[in-house]
Amino acid sequence: MRPALKIGELLPNPLHTISGEEAATHKKIEEKINFKAPLLAQLDKLSSAELVTLLSRPHHPVDERTKYSVKLASDDTEEKLLKSSLLTENVPYLGLAAQLCLLVGFCASDSFVDFIASFVVCYILGGIGGMCGMGEYLLHRFMFNPQNYLSKSDEVSGGDRFKKLLSAGDNHCIHHIFMQDSDHITTPYKFYLRLIPAIMAVLYFMLPLKAVALLGGGLFTGSLVSDALHYSFHFGPSLNHEWWRYMKASHMKHHFLDNTRDFGITNTLADRCMGTQSDDHKRSVELQRMQRGDLLWNVKSLATSGPAGSTTTKAALKKP
Ligand SMILES: [Zn+2]
Ligand SMILES: [Zn+2]
Repeated sequence: MRPALKIGELLPNPLHTISGEEAATHKKIEEKINFKAPLLAQLDKLSSAELVTLLSRPHHPVDERTKYSVKLASDDTEEKLLKSSLLTENVPYLGLAAQLCLLVGFCASDSFVDFIASFVVCYILGGIGGMCGMGEYLLHRFMFNPQNYLSKSDEVSGGDRFKKLLSAGDNHCIHHIFMQDSDHITTPYKFYLRLIPAIMAVLYFMLPLKAVALLGGGLFTGSLVSDALHYSFHFGPSLNHEWWRYMKASHMKHHFLDNTRDFGITNTLADRCMGTQSDDHKRSVELQRMQRGDLLWNVKSLATSGPAGSTTTKAALKKP
């Protein structure tokens, strides 16, 4: 049994064996970054290659001995602004936005039958289907994972660029570094409150008001479905359903194995169409266990698990 994980230490990774070159880069990062001090101010010490490596594997967010949780900003107000909450922010605010859209869609419909038909086509198929079918994929791949566009060079291109990446309004970069940090997993509601009305404004030039309102409401609802499912993959509750376990396993591969693949949260349709689905993982014992319902990589089990980087341990595979 090894001592508890240190803050900023790599999580045990049953899906990936670290190469010598990657291990050396992680070591360099550990030498440059003090995870017990605010992180954003230190990022200008990293080269592009080191930043991409930092973002590519999950790290431990808590010092087990002192219980210090990783901090991003030196200023408390800024630190608070970087946090987001699914239950106290996204669900009430985006839920309200979806209901307002529904109300506008209802008032703009010619009859109740017209409203029901528009609801099914625009709200469910167009809005929720659009967000879960392709929207979550496009956002996750092209907006939330900008580290994929950084060239792996030795250039230290200034802290501002890196700070922007990590303090970007979507929180996802931070989620990739500290997967178990529940304050930085949900996409902030303000992001959707800007994006979806902008989409609705464009659609208004092409579609009637009822269709635009119901599509917008569906997009708000779809964003909640996607974010709630993502949250459940990391913090539960675990659903005893094959589809949930399959998607969780797929998402864990995105975190532990390759963050340029497996972008789908609610389904793998877009990944399959765009050629970004990773290889069949049924051969992986660890993922098979997870698909049977084991909740991997929770903080408590990791604290006493095996060496970081390459080993699967019984403790890491235990149910919480
Ligand atoms: Zn991601
Ligand atoms: Zn995640």
